[in-house]
Amino acid sequence: MTFHTFDENPAVQGQSYSDRQRKAAEHWSEIRDHLQRVLVESRIPPINSKCMMCDELAVAICDDCSSTAFFCKEHVEQAHLNSNIFHRPHT
Ligand SMILES: [Zn+2]
Ligand SMILES: [Zn+2]
Repeated sequence: MTFHTFDENPAVQGQSYSDRQRKAAEHWSEIRDHLQRVLVESRIPPINSKCMMCDELAVAICDDCSSTAFFCKEHVEQAHLNSNIFHRPHT
């Protein structure tokens, strides 16, 4: 088991949480890109992200739909029931 993701990203390794908050405004897009990469790699929806089809909290992500395709547990089934049956969403 390795955690190479963090070794390769000084934004997480080198900065404390408060540092990141202070710089969040100017570096937000940078941080967001970084977080999206990490989250996609870890294959879970970002905390507090919503289902793309309703307002429920997302519990699943489907890389095959989109790297930002988040679903609640109802819609992840619904979205893949009739179409996209070859997708393999992660929960
Ligand atoms: Zn939903
Ligand atoms: Zn899908």
